[in-house]
Amino acid sequence: SEFDDEVDDSDLPSGHIWAYPCKLLSCPDYGKSWQLRSSFLAHLQDREAHISTATTPAARRSIELAWRYATDPYLPPRAAPCFLSREDPDEQVWDYGFKDDTGKVITDTGTLKEMEIHKAALRQ
Ligand SMILES: [Zn+2]
Repeated sequence: SEFDDEVDDSDLPSGHIWAYPCKLLSCPDYGKSWQLRSSFLAHLQDREAHISTATTPAARRSIELAWRYATDPYLPPRAAPCFLSREDPDEQVWDYGFKDDTGKVITDTGTLKEMEIHKAALRQ
């Protein structure tokens, strides 16, 4: 069934398990990670934040495949690749503005890091 926990275990490196993090920023459980596929899929079905994107088994399956990662069950939990905590400044997007070398005001939207990259690119 859709909620079979062992469905992809043959794809795992030996000794590893799948972890299923919630990567939806607007979800109250953003950042939480499940080790049971069935619990993760139930989360997608139950949380209102996922209703619009996780309506069908196929949609839930594609989210599951996109977000899961293989992890060693005997190590402490780690953040998934490319996964930032809600407090991380790189996760916050701002409308920023600054002046370039000629005094022209540049405005754009992005993280603080993206703004620094933007500034540096103009200086070259
Ligand atoms: Zn969620």
